[in-house]
Amino acid sequence: MKYIDLRSDTVTMPTDKMRAEMFKAVVGDDVYGDDPTVLELEEYAAKLVGKEAALFVPSGTFGNQLALLTHCKRGDEVILGDDCHIVAHEVGAASVIAGVQLRTLQSDRGILNPEEIQSKIREEDLHYPETGLICVENAHSNGRVIPLENMRAIYKIGQQNKIPVHLDGARVFNAATYLNVDVKEVTENCDSVMFCLSKGLCAPVGSILAGTKQFIDKARKGRKLMGGGLRQAGILGAAGLVALKEMTQRLDKDHKNAILLGEKLSTIPGIEVNFEDIHINMVYFNIRVPHKNVENLEEILYSKGIKINPPENGLLRFVTHYWITEEDISYIVDTLKEVLSN
Ligand SMILES: *Cc1c(COP(=O)(O)O)cnc(C)c1O
Repeated sequence: MKYIDLRSDTVTMPTDKMRAEMFKAVVGDDVYGDDPTVLELEEYAAKLVGKEAALFVPSGTFGNQLALLTHCKRGDEVILGDDCHIVAHEVGAASVIAGVQLRTLQSDRGILNPEEIQSKIREEDLHYPETGLICVENAHSNGRVIPLENMRAIYKIGQQNKIPVHLDGARVFNAATYLNVDVKEVTENCDSVMFCLSKGLCAPVGSILAGTKQFIDKARKGRKLMGGGLRQAGILGAAGLVALKEMTQRLDKDHKNAILLGEKLSTIPGIEVNFEDIHINMVYFNIRVPHKNVENLEEILYSKGIKINPPENGLLRFVTHYWITEEDISYIVDTLKEVLSN
């Protein structure tokens, strides 16, 4: 059975083009620096986001944690939002791998207050840790895109205080698409950036960490320490090149489909869609009217060929991506309408 999978954009399969490129990829041992496809990917990725160098890493979590390990020394303090991925969804890795302390600030739907960041930067005192890094996230995993003015203000504070800024840009191309700017206009507001080749860009595996040459040279050694020195990784790199060259160009389609899905869902009685949060490919909504099928919605929809995640705090999230078509959206909405009217 073919499923329509709305759980996330992490479920995306590689495209036919990717599989073809993977099949014929020229590879070598990348730990020796011998894999031409990985080298090409890293060079292409660095240029794309306007950084000196880039490194292929196994996952987004790996890239973020490697950034912390590379920027900071043990015991440093990292300033970041309380709802960001590094804090909420990375298994506490910051305390295990980099050995840093996380100083969380309350975020306003992903936006951090620059003045508050400034006020939390440590002075020299026998008792204090040193502030080692500031982290921002764009697009935020709550589906919202952070305004560039906010990123600029935070980067300025980092520079004034000589503290690096890392961008968790897992979906940075979605952010650039929403803002209708070249991705460099987003990534120029940070010293290092991580972005995923998987997720909406459909590569099967992999992320990129980019920054200065000196930073990436150091990160390469940290990647080996973390067990991320991959051998014939060009098989994966070939898919990553398709992701960056082609798949970044079509994300507006997923964003349009998210709005379309939101509009159609909102016509179902009892469904309330958070339209102001549809910036990228995520539709958040709740079902206001009590209905016996709401509790078992996950199973009921599964039996009709639709995969969803259970609600979090009463909120459901449907994610559009390459493998979700307009016809799928009609089927999803018709099916949900029927389930909620029975
Ligand atoms: C998905 C995601 C990550 C982690 O990526 P994985 O490849 O799943 O480890 C990091 N940050 C954000 C904002 C994400 O959405």
